[in-house]
Amino acid sequence: MRVLFVASECVPLVKTGGLADVAGALPKALTAKGVDVRVLLPGFPGVTALTSQGETVWQDDDVFGKPAAVRRAAVAGLDVLALDMPEFFERDGLYVTPEGEDWPDNPFRFASLAWVAARIARDGLQGGWRPDIVHAHDWQAALAPLYLRDWGVSDVATILTIHNMSYQGVCDADLRTDLNLPEAGFTSQGYEFYGKVNFLKAGLIHSDLVTTVSPTYARELESPEFGWGLEGVLAARQERAIGILNGIDTELWDPMSDPAVPSFTTRSLSGRKAARKTLLETFDIDPGRTGPVFAVVSRLTDQKGLDLLLGILPDMLRVDGSLILLGSGDRRLEEAFRVAARDHAGSVGVRIGYDEDLAHRIYAGADAILVPSRFEPCGLTQMYAMRYGALPVVARTGGLADTVIDANAAAISAGVATGFQFEPGSREAFANAIAKVFAVFHEPGLWRQMQRNAMRHPVGWDGPAERYVDLYARLMAAKEGQRRFSGTR
Ligand code: ADP
Repeated sequence: MRVLFVASECVPLVKTGGLADVAGALPKALTAKGVDVRVLLPGFPGVTALTSQGETVWQDDDVFGKPAAVRRAAVAGLDVLALDMPEFFERDGLYVTPEGEDWPDNPFRFASLAWVAARIARDGLQGGWRPDIVHAHDWQAALAPLYLRDWGVSDVATILTIHNMSYQGVCDADLRTDLNLPEAGFTSQGYEFYGKVNFLKAGLIHSDLVTTVSPTYARELESPEFGWGLEGVLAARQERAIGILNGIDTELWDPMSDPAVPSFTTRSLSGRKAARKTLLETFDIDPGRTGPVFAVVSRLTDQKGLDLLLGILPDMLRVDGSLILLGSGDRRLEEAFRVAARDHAGSVGVRIGYDEDLAHRIYAGADAILVPSRFEPCGLTQMYAMRYGALPVVARTGGLADTVIDANAAAISAGVATGFQFEPGSREAFANAIAKVFAVFHEPGLWRQMQRNAMRHPVGWDGPAERYVDLYARLMAAKEGQRRFSGTR
C-alpha cells in the first residue's frame, strides 16, 4: 500500500502548529504497520536544509511559470519528498510576511504543492514509485483531488483530512484560469464560494473520503458555528466526515527520555518538583506562591480564547496562582500579555515567540495547562500536558472534549478524572473551572491521582493509525471494485 502524504508542515522540518506534529508522527506509525508512506512538503528553508542533497525524483521547468524539482531524503524516520521551488518557498514566513500579511502569491504557492502531488500520483516518480492513495492535509493540499479528477485519473484514491476548517484558502475568482482550475467547476456545486475560489471546498467535493481529527469536531463541522460556510458541502457528501482522534509522538514526547527535562528519571511524579522549580526560575515567578502554576503554550489567535484568560487573571493571582505563557501571533494579544507580565511581575511570566524546547519544559513543570479555545479540531497541547503530568483545563469542544475526562463528581468517585472541562466561550464557566482547580490542588491526594491518570491516558498513534490503514484498505477495495465493474461494461 503506497500513500503520498501532502502537507505544508511536518516535524522536525517545519512547524507552526499541530498539523506539523501529525504529519511528522502519523507516517511513522503507518510505516510501522507496513504502509509505504512518502511525505511531500513545500521546500521551505527548514526543509531544503535537510533535503537539498537528496536524489531528484521528479522535475518540470514550468509549474505555474516556475522551475520545480522534487528531492527525496530520509529525515528522522520519514521518507520526505521536498518540492524545491526557491522563488515560492525560500522565504522568511510560511504563510505570512514578517509584517503578518498573507503572501500575495499564496494561491500559486500552494496550488503548486497540490499540482505536483497530483502529477506524481498520475505519472509516478522517476524510478517508478506511484501512490495508490493521495492523503491531502488541509487547504494547502486540497486542490490535489480536484486536479486528479479533472484529468480523469481514476485509479488513485484521495483522502482529505481537515485539521482546521477555519482556514480555507480563498482567493480571487480571476485567478482560476491561471491556477489551472476547470471552468466548469466554478459553480456553487463546485469550488466557487461566494464569487471566489475556495481550495478547501474543492478538496471536500473531489476527495473520495474526508476525515477530521476528532469525533466531536466531525459532528461540530456540520453546524454553521463550526463549518465556516462549508457545513452544507459536508452534509451534501454521500459519506460524512469521519472523525479519527489524533495521537501524539510518544517517543519525542516521553518525559522519561526527554533531554529538555532531565529530572524525570522514573515513570513517576518525582521528577516534576525539580522541573517546576527550574521553570519558575526561567519565568521569574516568586517560588513562595502557594497556588497552582498555570501555563499556556499556544498560537495567539482568536480561536484559542485567551482573551477570556486576561479577564479572569486578576482573580487567579489574588489567590496565589501564577501564570506562564509561551506564544506568538496576534499583535494585540501579544501586547496584552506583555502588559500583564509587567503589571504582575513575580506572578506572571510571558515569552512571546516560538520555542520547542521551552514548550517541553513548560509541560513538565507547570501544574495545569490552560486551553480555553472557542473551537479546537483536536488540540495536542492537552495531550502533551497529560503525558507530562500537568492537568489540562479545557473548553468542552472538539478534540478537547474527546481527550480530557472532567473532574466531575462521578469521574472523581470512579477515580478516572484527568482534567477540567468548561463551556467554551464563557468567562464565567472558565472562572468556575479555575476555582475547581484551586480546590483540587489543595487536596494533594486527589491531585496526584489525577496526575497519574493523566500520565497513563492512552495518547499514542497506534490505534488511530490502525483506523487510517482500515480506511486506506477500504478505498483501495472500492477502486478495485470500480475497475472490475467498468471492465465488464
Ligand atoms: P494548533 O495546531 O491550532 O496550533 P495544537 O494544540 O493542535 O494547536 O498544536 C499546537 C502545537 O504547537 C503543539 O505542539 C504546541 O506545543 C506547539 N506550540 C504552539 N505554540 C508554541 C510556541 N510558541 N512555542 C513552542 N511550541 C508551540
